[in-house]
Amino acid sequence: MGNTASHAYCSRKGCRAPADWALVWNNPKLHTPDRRKVWVACDEHREYLANFLDLRGFLRETIPMDEFEG
Ligand SMILES: [Zn+2]
Repeated sequence: MGNTASHAYCSRKGCRAPADWALVWNNPKLHTPDRRKVWVACDEHREYLANFLDLRGFLRETIPMDEFEG
C-alpha cells in the first residue's frame, strides 16, 4: 500500500540502471491472491529477474514501465 514506483531503479543487486520494466509477482504461500508485489528491472536484467520469479511460480506479468505507471 502506498508503494509508488515513480522513479524506480532496477531491482537487481548492484544495478543502478533506471527500470524500464515492472515485474508483477505474488507468492501464494505468503500473499493472498489479490496481493501484488512489484520488482522493476532494466532492459538487461528483465529476463534474469523474470526467470527467477517464474522458476518459483511467482511471476504474474511483465509490464513496460510506461504502461505500469500510466
Ligand atoms: Zn539492471
